[in-house]
Amino acid sequence: MYIQPSNPPNLPTLQIIKPLTDRITMKKLLYKLLRYSGLVFIFREIIQRNKVTLLLYHDISRETAEKTFPWLAKRYNIIGLNDFIAACKNGNGNSLPQKALVITFDDGHAGNYKLLPVVQRMGLPVTIFLCAGIINTNRHYWFTYRHPSLSKSALKRASNRDRLKMLRNVGFTPDREFQTPQAMNRQQILDIKNHFDLQAHTMSHPCLPRCTGAEAREEIFSSKEVLEKEYGLKIDSIAYPNGDYSDRDIALAKEAGYQCGITVDFGYNTPNTDLFRLKRLSVNDTANLDELAVKASGVWQFFKTRNGRKQGYGWNARAEN
Ligand SMILES: [Zn+2]
Repeated sequence: MYIQPSNPPNLPTLQIIKPLTDRITMKKLLYKLLRYSGLVFIFREIIQRNKVTLLLYHDISRETAEKTFPWLAKRYNIIGLNDFIAACKNGNGNSLPQKALVITFDDGHAGNYKLLPVVQRMGLPVTIFLCAGIINTNRHYWFTYRHPSLSKSALKRASNRDRLKMLRNVGFTPDREFQTPQAMNRQQILDIKNHFDLQAHTMSHPCLPRCTGAEAREEIFSSKEVLEKEYGLKIDSIAYPNGDYSDRDIALAKEAGYQCGITVDFGYNTPNTDLFRLKRLSVNDTANLDELAVKASGVWQFFKTRNGRKQGYGWNARAEN
């Protein structure tokens, strides 16, 4: 029996999808070209040789970890964040291996729990920065909630009060309990705490420079306190949400007793880098080894930020009052 083919794909959808797939293919090609251009090799073997590179992941699958972690371990010397901090504090930066690399994850996504067997088997030091007010709840990260008319960057630029108000108007509040959790729960955190280095990422993931002094203080101080008291963790590092920070937030982090603060400013670290402005490269949770090679070496970010002149996510923040 002849079956009539289904309706031909309609043009408007194709018009959107086609350029998008073209862009993705072009990007993949570009990663491959950059990877094999020699630039990645030069960055890794010359620029990164006597530096400490911090990498940023968020939420990768176990398969991606199984593919990318060994790739990194073969080309870099993976060290713990605490090893780097200790070497800086004790003035023995010479003890650090060449091409040292620190693997970090931001937010404390539920999926991070699945990486435990990989990390255990490989014996890798990995740091996860937890949002202390989101773990062990069904609260969601505000940046995963789609505002019908405002972009994520528009919301980040608003004052903390205005951002919360705009989100509240469309049904999101920081303490709303959703059907499913986005972050790890208490038991998962207790299960992994001896195998991962768990550190702070504020309570609710605000844009710190857009908080008032009192709000920023609460976010920075309480996250350390909650993680230490309720989970028995030793918290001495904070990753600034979105990598955004101001001088005021650094002063607060110091006052709270943190030993270092992590940004997403472009670059590499040495024992002389300001410990409260540690630089970090995002690898975009990729499973594509061309993209990973280009991003872990900093080649991609170097060109994207025009030699690192663009800081963080693109704006150098002054704190709200
Ligand atoms: Zn984050």
